Amino acid sequence: MLLVDTVVENNNNKNQHIDPRMNNIGMEVEETVRELRQYFKTGKTKSVAWRKNQLQALLNLVHENEDAISKALYQDLGKHPVEAYRDEIGGVEKSAQSSLNSVEKWMAPKKSSMPLLFFPAKGELLPEPLGVVLIFSSWNFPIVLALDPIIGAISAGNVVLIKPSEQAPACSSFLANTLPRYLDSNAVKVVEGGGDVCEKLLLHKFDKIFFTGSPRVASIVMTSAARNLTPVTLELGGKCPAIFDHLSNPSDFKMAVKRIVGAKWGICSGQACIGIDYVLVEEKYSSELIELLKKFVRRFYGDNMVESKVLSRIVNKQHFQRLCNLLKDPLVAASIVHGGSVDEANLFIEPTILLDPPLDAEIMTEEIFGPFLPVITVNKIQESIEFINSKPKPLAIYAFTKDETFKRKIVSETSSGSVIFNDTLVQFLCDTLPFGGVGQSGIGRYHGKFSFDTFSHEKAVMHRYLCLEIEPRYPPWNKFKLEFIRLAYRFNYFGLALHMLGLRKQN
Ligand code: NAD
Repeated sequence: MLLVDTVVENNNNKNQHIDPRMNNIGMEVEETVRELRQYFKTGKTKSVAWRKNQLQALLNLVHENEDAISKALYQDLGKHPVEAYRDEIGGVEKSAQSSLNSVEKWMAPKKSSMPLLFFPAKGELLPEPLGVVLIFSSWNFPIVLALDPIIGAISAGNVVLIKPSEQAPACSSFLANTLPRYLDSNAVKVVEGGGDVCEKLLLHKFDKIFFTGSPRVASIVMTSAARNLTPVTLELGGKCPAIFDHLSNPSDFKMAVKRIVGAKWGICSGQACIGIDYVLVEEKYSSELIELLKKFVRRFYGDNMVESKVLSRIVNKQHFQRLCNLLKDPLVAASIVHGGSVDEANLFIEPTILLDPPLDAEIMTEEIFGPFLPVITVNKIQESIEFINSKPKPLAIYAFTKDETFKRKIVSETSSGSVIFNDTLVQFLCDTLPFGGVGQSGIGRYHGKFSFDTFSHEKAVMHRYLCLEIEPRYPPWNKFKLEFIRLAYRFNYFGLALHMLGLRKQN
């Protein structure tokens, strides 16, 4: 469904103070949400067959449209086809295939042990879909960040309304035109548009909102969701640090730097929520680190960034300008040790390394989300923990170190969505680990089974039988009844003890 196509363009009657275009969108959104809710009520999306069909259809969509997706990603972000496959197309295929393989197992009720107090009884946990799910996705990975949550939502048996990012228009249009051709169009609908359309969407009641984007918009989404007590998952960003401990073995040092360069600039030119925002290193090793960073930058991305076609471009003029402004501060500009050149016509920015820019400059107080890499020096690498803790909790912390004590310290003394040792960004592809932030970097998590759980409610089901009555649970009360209940509760522990000794089997 393409709401923006049906928009009435002119509003000549200014006296009415009503924008008919928005009125129209509002009505279409209302109708769409109503249709989705009606369809959910038929119960069709709950069957395992429906879920598997949809996952297979999504796989077919990706297989049959690999070129079209690649082209759209190139149009929106200048992503190289290899990068497009590695970070988006391949990721969706992997995720859909593993959900297809596992969905039946995930849906199965799980037995729950019943304390002796409830004898005779049986308990189970039954995952059920939430209902109508609203998904907002971001522009930097416009395919995977739209399709991955859809995989979770349909695996869990929900119906979905998705609003792709308007800042990646080719991908948004691809999704709007293609999803209804492959998936059950009664259950998965696409709405295109910007903030105005989002506001209309948020006027409605959904059973779950899954949002990927900035903390600023997330707070608008959460405020609207609160009106209907709608649960939210917020996948946000922040400043992800990389701690670079001294690696005495030259080949370790080299591999670590290579991984930093590959991840910082080779993944959407630094426009990634889990991208490295800055590197912390001991002062005495900083020049060695910077020299090697430069070497790998030249090796991977060449001298002419436009011609080499390896780097993605900046998404649009507005973000290009935002990034250029970060370098305008004279103290920041003076800290550039590599790069800094920009190509406005093609929206390219050279991989840029800065050494100790001022810590109160915007480049160090805001999420960079672009191809600048500040290297921040500390006297002792342990101080990096304090540095990280002085900022909001990041989505990820990367640490290159072989020191096991330091690793334990990082894990126990910092808080972040994830901690990755000796690599960067690979966690996004690992479905057996949850993906999500904490604090400022997000609420909730997804990927693999975690996605299924995010879009499900685990219902507690208890079966009791109309036999064996315990009369002391009913009034009128007396002392004997109180003692009986006390004893029964204690006997419950006795039952547990028997179970632990292996004398009683768990249900
Ligand atoms: P954004 O917040 O501007 O937009 C995100 C989505 O919200 C888009 O679909 C947009 O159309 C919609 N939106 C815009 N105005 C809205 C409104 N008033 N109400 C409701 N929705 C509205 O973010 P962005 O520019 O797309 O992405 C950049 C941010 O997203 C960065 O902070 C980045 O770290 C974060 N991000 C996080 C992840 C993650 O997985 N954690 C992934 C990508 C990006």
